[in-house]
Amino acid sequence: VHHPGPLAHHPTALIPAGPGVVSGWGGLGVPGDERRGVDMAALVRHAPLTRGLGRAYGDSALPAPGDRWVAGSALADRLLAFDTQSGLLRAEAGVSLRELRRLLLPRGWFVPVTPGTQFVTLGGAVASDVHGKNHHESGTIGRHVQAVQLALADGRVVRASRDHHPDLFAATLGGQGLTGHVLEVELAMARVPSPWIFQESERVPHIERFVEALTQAGPRWPFTVGWIDCLSRGAHLGRGTLMKGRWADPGEGPTHFPPVLRRVTFPAPLPGWALNDWTVWAFNQLYYWKQPQRWKTGIVHPETFFYPLDAIHQWNRMYGRRGFTQHQIVIPREAGTAAVVRYLELLSSLGGASFLCVIKDCGEEGEGLLSFPKPGMSVALDIPIRPDTQAMVDRLNRFALDVGGRIYLAKDTFSRADDFQEMERDRLPRFLEVRRHWDPEGHFRSAQSVRLMGW
Ligand SMILES: Cc1cc2nc3c(=O)[nH]c(=O)nc-3n(C[C@H](O)[C@H](O)[C@H](O)COP(=O)(O)OP(=O)(O)OC[C@H]3O[C@@H](n4cnc5c(N)ncnc54)[C@H](O)[C@@H]3O)c2cc1C
Repeated sequence: VHHPGPLAHHPTALIPAGPGVVSGWGGLGVPGDERRGVDMAALVRHAPLTRGLGRAYGDSALPAPGDRWVAGSALADRLLAFDTQSGLLRAEAGVSLRELRRLLLPRGWFVPVTPGTQFVTLGGAVASDVHGKNHHESGTIGRHVQAVQLALADGRVVRASRDHHPDLFAATLGGQGLTGHVLEVELAMARVPSPWIFQESERVPHIERFVEALTQAGPRWPFTVGWIDCLSRGAHLGRGTLMKGRWADPGEGPTHFPPVLRRVTFPAPLPGWALNDWTVWAFNQLYYWKQPQRWKTGIVHPETFFYPLDAIHQWNRMYGRRGFTQHQIVIPREAGTAAVVRYLELLSSLGGASFLCVIKDCGEEGEGLLSFPKPGMSVALDIPIRPDTQAMVDRLNRFALDVGGRIYLAKDTFSRADDFQEMERDRLPRFLEVRRHWDPEGHFRSAQSVRLMGW
């Protein structure tokens, strides 16, 4: 089932997800399989890569050309130790953030940083050095990781931390699985005052106000994120909704524990015609006006706040069998609000029909040698695969290069090696040096690493 059009020229020749295909969340993959087992150390012995729950959108968790399989960590999900005083957790890499929420939130603990879905593993979160709505305050998850246990290319199992093999530790945070198989993670969990969230949402009329509102909210709210209607133009360019939140104080929320939420499953891939500029326009209108008042405050369920997309299982099927990709850029603070406005103008002029365009301000850069966030505005958007997708991603990357920005590897499928290497010219040599030191034979690789780094 070779893909009918645009992906025929993709360097790793991606095909639609289906039986016998290892795929990313964007619905594209390569022939091969994922082997799971409860004994990770045994499972990964000859594996060229480990993946978690496959929530990376692009090809970072896919086997490289010639490698027909990858190890899957999802069954290796034991909690090994938890200190109820300090909150230090030691767990196998396959445990999901959903499981951690289920087990530890009732006891007053939550992960210090969470991405927009709880269906990711701890190992996957470390390998992407994920950021969340609190990046401006809490950094990436790597800041809270005390150590990882890694199976290396030569078969040794080592513990890496800030004191022990610090180069390996820093390269593993955000290293997309290219330094070794993460077997265990030691993570400092965050104590929370209650299991509920106090949220304030604000309708914002245009992009300049959005940047200002996000920046002003940062010092006052631990969690901030904005949704933008990226089909809007002119005076409404970049209008959207800004969500701000904090853990509710005891007594502020209901006395009962947040109930289990009912989820629905997206039944089947939508036919190609269903998603078009009109349906996306209609969605954006509805979403913008669903809150008629400008400001709204109240107590909300933590899953509704952190994981709105998780309410619909397999929502990625909405994009049909052709799949989709995501592009996430951080526009550095030095480039100013004017650069964010120019980026929104560019998105609006390119079209590309995106339901989801998310803006977030990023705080200080972390230790991960290839981690994504740096101070500035991150803008992420879904792009359904069309014949011009490659050209669109090229154009967005050209913008990133012009403003000194960078892209997020966990989302990427289409960036060209030249663009990526140019964007990462200051950091990539060090990452490759560490990678080469610990894996001189180039044992660890993914479809993405071959596409962007050549090995
Ligand atoms: C709806 C949605 C919302 C998201 N929101 C955010 C967000 O807000 N912020 C953010 O930062 N990210 C976000 N992401 C991206 C997601 O957090 C990352 O892609 C994460 O790495 C996925 O974890 P996973 O367990 O599914 O790993 P996979 O997708 O299976 O793998 C991702 C990478 O991690 C590596 N890896 C996984 N497990 C191991 C291991 N045990 N040892 C070594 N390497 C390993 C893989 O090789 C691969 O390179 C989102 C994704 C989705 C689908």
